[in-house]
Amino acid sequence: MKAGLFTRFGGPEVLHQAEVPTPSYLADQMLVRTHACGVCGHDLLNRQGHFPGTRLPCVMGHEISGVVEEVGPLIQQFAPGDRVALTQRISCGTCPTCRAGRDNLCRNGPGFYGEDISGGYGQFVIASPRNAVRLPDSIDLSTGAILSCAVGTGFHALGRARLQPGDTVLITAATGGVGIHTVELAKLMGYRVLAITSSEHKSELLKNAGADHVLSGSDFHKSARDITEGRGVDAVIEIAGAPTFAASLRSLSAGARLVMVGNVQPGNVQLNPAIPILREVEIVGSGHALVADLQRVIDLVARGQIKPRIAHSLPIEQAAEAHSLLAQGSAAGRVVLTHH
Ligand SMILES: [Zn+2]
Ligand SMILES: [Zn+2]
Repeated sequence: MKAGLFTRFGGPEVLHQAEVPTPSYLADQMLVRTHACGVCGHDLLNRQGHFPGTRLPCVMGHEISGVVEEVGPLIQQFAPGDRVALTQRISCGTCPTCRAGRDNLCRNGPGFYGEDISGGYGQFVIASPRNAVRLPDSIDLSTGAILSCAVGTGFHALGRARLQPGDTVLITAATGGVGIHTVELAKLMGYRVLAITSSEHKSELLKNAGADHVLSGSDFHKSARDITEGRGVDAVIEIAGAPTFAASLRSLSAGARLVMVGNVQPGNVQLNPAIPILREVEIVGSGHALVADLQRVIDLVARGQIKPRIAHSLPIEQAAEAHSLLAQGSAAGRVVLTHH
């Protein structure tokens, strides 16, 4: 098959096209012909060599939609021709975390696309009924590619935040591919939304997506406190990570949740233990969407309640350009790569 890949870590220029073996699937798996693959901040970090599990040559890409090409003899739920969206990981289905319904935490299955298994920058990927959801006719395949990561990540994180309608949630990196959809979902769920962005000119975009207030600058906690009459917010969805962590922590009300979703600068953050001790704030991690989250997101999109945003669609041959676009931070929504 043809694939966008890299054989050494580095800048966008290491991405190129090459012919590689088509992934082989087991009896309980299927082969999916990739239609589109979203480009994620995670991909930039992977390409730079930040993930120890990545093996070279690497065909990355974990935001995948496509059409089922072949199914193993044990597959009953899917047939060739089915249009599907995939979650980022194929779980094992039998370990304690899988049995607890937390398939995003499974480390016993085939694994994560683009790191453990060949990803969506390739013409074909393997998939399983445990990570695939059929797309209704009303959702096109390019949109399908961004539902699990760009939309599902925020959906999962808002679940981890345990909010009630009427609560106030603060969302960092709000104009990014995950951020903008998290704003939209938070509004749909009935929360008051404070959106943080470093691009003040995108204020209108955020308000249209559902933000009640758009804040900028490193001391946004002061505005967050003013807006909440000094109380602080009920949860932060922390998508930027290190650059905003200190102000996010200071934005929280007593007993609130800081949900860690992303970290654009790999490395440590500083935490004064007195804050979680004295204020009983919870720091909660949130990984990628469960297959159940993806199903919910597909339902919301099919009903028109959430509008997924694709900023740019480029052919897979332009993977390097797509990475540069994302790194510039100018895209309002997700950049997707398409196969043909
Ligand atoms: Zn992603
Ligand atoms: Zn498992």
